[in-house]
Amino acid sequence: SSNGSAARDPSVFVDAPNVKYEANQILSEYVYENAHVIQSNDRLIVRPTKSAFEFKTETHVRRTGLMMIGLGGNNGSTLTATIVANRSKTTFQTKNGLQESNYYGSVTQSSTLKLGIDAQGKDVYVPFSQIVPMVHPNDLVIGGWDINSANLANAMSRAKVLEYDLQRQVSKELSQIKPLPSIYYPDFIAANQSDRADNLIPGNDKSAHLEHIRKDIRDFKQKNRLERVVVIWTANTERYADVIPGVNDTADNLLEAVKSSHAEIAPSTIFALACILEGVPFINGAPQNTLVPGCIELAEQKRSFIGGDGAFLYLDFMLTPDFKSGQTKIKSVLAQFLVDAGIRPLSIVSYNHLGNNDGKNLSAPQQFRSKEISKASVVDDVISSNQILFNDKVGKNVDHCIVIKYVPAVGDSKVAMDEYHSELMMGGRNTISMHTVCEDSLLASPLIIDLVVVAELFSRVQYRSKGETEWKPFYSVLSVLSYWLKAPVTRPGTDVVNGLNKQRACLENLLRAFVGMAPANEMKLEEKSM
Ligand code: NAD
Repeated sequence: SSNGSAARDPSVFVDAPNVKYEANQILSEYVYENAHVIQSNDRLIVRPTKSAFEFKTETHVRRTGLMMIGLGGNNGSTLTATIVANRSKTTFQTKNGLQESNYYGSVTQSSTLKLGIDAQGKDVYVPFSQIVPMVHPNDLVIGGWDINSANLANAMSRAKVLEYDLQRQVSKELSQIKPLPSIYYPDFIAANQSDRADNLIPGNDKSAHLEHIRKDIRDFKQKNRLERVVVIWTANTERYADVIPGVNDTADNLLEAVKSSHAEIAPSTIFALACILEGVPFINGAPQNTLVPGCIELAEQKRSFIGGDGAFLYLDFMLTPDFKSGQTKIKSVLAQFLVDAGIRPLSIVSYNHLGNNDGKNLSAPQQFRSKEISKASVVDDVISSNQILFNDKVGKNVDHCIVIKYVPAVGDSKVAMDEYHSELMMGGRNTISMHTVCEDSLLASPLIIDLVVVAELFSRVQYRSKGETEWKPFYSVLSVLSYWLKAPVTRPGTDVVNGLNKQRACLENLLRAFVGMAPANEMKLEEKSM
């Protein structure tokens, strides 16, 4: 591994009878505690439950390739340059002095987990990536597609995100990376993107396009001797595709519609189909409805007959749209904070303006609509958690308004102005106004790292109920990835969890479970006992 820091940080070893570290795997026995609640007349009867599980984590980290669709965009070029710089521990001059390469903003690379307490009762934290083996971003093999032919050095300079002295140093290596030609159906992204489209897979035959992408994935895997490939859509936001009975509503219809090159099949759906058919996880970082019902059904069918290593997991990784980077992340924290404080949000209004190519694309109404939908649902679960503040009598809604404008001058620095207007005791009012300026791509790119690292990890984990003989794929992967994604599509019948703190707790407690540790516990009874 080229991971310098991993060599320094001690790895975690849990010394307990329910955990076994074997040559190639970690086995843990785990008691999952929850409670079943039933209403009986005027009482809620709570029955605590305990279920015994076993987890098996393979410790061999897969040699992993990351293929980005939209490789030449701001996120794609920024992430690639950052990985190249980190690999060689590049330092560069900025007006603030010498800057070292790092992965700030990545949960897996730059955040920590509390392990427990030391002999003095002080909390002990470890890097997030130390608790079980995870792939290091420096070791990812990068590739992908773009409808624009610029090599990554030119793409990086066009993006105007990274410091000049850094660009200068990584430029040569980046110039060697050229995006593969991609699929362009002009109707799906804004018309203002057409001048970028000079690197296209020829023809209008959608079946041929599908086969082309499948072959790209196979070739990339083979050429780089990869054990795992993860594909991420970080290309422009598309408009919503119409879901039409007979066209994209079932797996069979969708495959037929591809054969007849039906107009409502989006490029992103072709990529998703290629990934399903190749058994490769597909993560959607943009808000459009790539995963039309037929796509989900095909993935389900594939799961049933793809056997063998890791094949089970792909479905779970597919169902997740749009990176949750700045404003939406804060929204899911702040809404939760207000509601958990017993304060009733009445309206949440968000204005954004940004000047990068993403902003330009989103300035078209249909693409904006996709974004608006993905941002809108983010507080729903918080609202439904509190029937004192939200009920039939006072209403169950928060007025939620989202505005996005394209202002070229501000470039990649995205401006967000948010107002949270809430009701206090006895009809009082509280207004929180927030003004955020953030270099968008430097906030969003590390999320791609986390999605790949966590996807690769969960591909190595299996579980079973105590007493069962067969190990099963890990099923709640979807909710784990939703820490980084807005409006994740869930399995039918399950609810979305948007609250960021809950999502983080889920992630953290799962990692702890893999090494046989109980959920994180902040009771600090040691300090409270007399
Ligand atoms: P960008 O416009 O700089 O990059 C998108 C790239 O995709 C461009 O290079 C474009 O040529 C390419 N592209 C368009 N259609 C394509 C296709 N069919 N196949 C291959 N390439 C194609 O945008 P960005 O800032 O990198 O953002 C990428 C996506 O991530 C957008 O959908 C955006 O809404 C989403 N997103 C970004 C952020 C953020 O903070 N930057 C946050 C959340 C979501």
